[in-house]
Amino acid sequence: MDNVLGTLNGIEFTIGDSLLELSYLIAALLFVYGLKLLSHPETARRGNLWAAAGMGLAMFTTIVLHKDANGTGISLTNIWIIMAAIGVGAVIGWIIARKIKMTGMPQLVSIYNATGGAASALVALLEYPNAIAGDVGSILVTVLGLIIGAVAFSGSMIAYGKLDGKVGDIMKPFMTYINLVLLALTLGFGAYIIISPNPPVEMIWAIYTLLAFSLVYGVMFVMPIGGADMPVVISLLNSFTGIAAAMAGFIYSNQAMILGGILVGSAGTILTILMCKAMNRSLINVIIGSFGGGGAALDREQGNIKEIMLSDAAVLLTYSQKIVIVPGYGLAVAQAQHIVHELDALLNGKGVDVKYAIHPVAGRMPGHMNVLLAEADVPYENLVEMDDINPDMPNVDVVIVIGANDVVNPAAYDDPTSPIYGMPIIDAHLAKNIIIMKRGMGKGYAGIENFLFFDDKTRMLFGDAKDSISKLVSEIKSM
Ligand code: NDP
Repeated sequence: MDNVLGTLNGIEFTIGDSLLELSYLIAALLFVYGLKLLSHPETARRGNLWAAAGMGLAMFTTIVLHKDANGTGISLTNIWIIMAAIGVGAVIGWIIARKIKMTGMPQLVSIYNATGGAASALVALLEYPNAIAGDVGSILVTVLGLIIGAVAFSGSMIAYGKLDGKVGDIMKPFMTYINLVLLALTLGFGAYIIISPNPPVEMIWAIYTLLAFSLVYGVMFVMPIGGADMPVVISLLNSFTGIAAAMAGFIYSNQAMILGGILVGSAGTILTILMCKAMNRSLINVIIGSFGGGGAALDREQGNIKEIMLSDAAVLLTYSQKIVIVPGYGLAVAQAQHIVHELDALLNGKGVDVKYAIHPVAGRMPGHMNVLLAEADVPYENLVEMDDINPDMPNVDVVIVIGANDVVNPAAYDDPTSPIYGMPIIDAHLAKNIIIMKRGMGKGYAGIENFLFFDDKTRMLFGDAKDSISKLVSEIKSM
């Protein structure tokens, strides 16, 4: 492996170096191919495996072929430590992945995101003392890796707590100013470290102070975000983790890390932009944490709730021409995706046109409803995006809202005090009839009342969604 192929700027290149670079190129191609397959539910599983194979290859070749500046490879002791760490991580990851329920996936994704950010921040923290004073480029990527990684870590931990219902929204008007000051302090302190002429070994106190500022900022910027705005923050944190990993890649000049990080960072950034558009929010407001929170909703007359009997619901659905199903988080909780597909196939067999209206933030993670319905083999062409289905809503005979709440809440249009005000919703209120399936009068993630439930056209079908739909299917079959 030590056959020298040539020298560049006095550094010798061996066959091993070339093989390592080639393996990184192959890994990068596998990441890109995996990402492409991930764009469709049918191929997503394979995409995950190809991307994981790319990561496996990059890890293996790094361990075997990597050499540091003076030409020595990784010592046997370090290889054992790395193997032990990978082993422990793999076992923990495997156990968690086997045990986690589908409804716990958003929380798990947040924790994984946090660990990615923490790993990049730790790399920056450990490598900073080795940087050369005055080498602005390498200190810049180290500082950026530390700030972005630490914010991704602490922010994702708060996001985990919020998704799990352990952490509430804390929004006070002055927090926007505190966040702005904290952001300015963090960036200013980072700039000071970058331009400081002092050798890094004398600036250890500064890098730890920067770590503390970044961690506190991560907590403070996610803390006030609530209502229906969490999806934007979650995708933003995801892109932060990718960017932080790319910075760590620059620290080590490791092509695979740089490329992997850039792919995650850019995918997360695109998702953030899409989420901002979907939620009608501006990114700058997210960064300073100035929206969301559980604002006091407008005080107004509630009206009466009207329930519907199963037999009436079955008749109404069977004699309809056009039905739209609006799935929400409750569908995932009830695990009713298979039975809802049975219902749509049954109605389809009776000549009813059934479509699913997909809101971009329904559920608890981006694409949650698409993944859930794909698991039950609901044809992808039956899933219609919010913007495409809304104009047709007045022609819909019955809209069935299953475990959805915030994404059909008209307060988004007409209650400026509501935390979801301005967020586009699925216009279920425009359909001719509305059936709402939920267990009781529980609120959605934004924690606000939904006046759609009191609408004259609305009938409530109370109960666990899986249970209610199973009974409805039996009722329709027996007609
Ligand atoms: P919501 O959280 O608004 O509402 C879910 C409803 O489901 C509840 O009102 C609950 O009412 C009902 N429910 C719960 N369990 C069952 C069950 N077993 N059977 C029937 N119904 C059930 O969900 P939406 O999908 O409408 O909205 C998603 C919300 O989550 C938005 O506010 C979004 O911003 C937020 N969010 C989304 C993320 C994303 O990336 N998609 C990430 C973070 C937050 P009841 O208790 O009465 O049954």
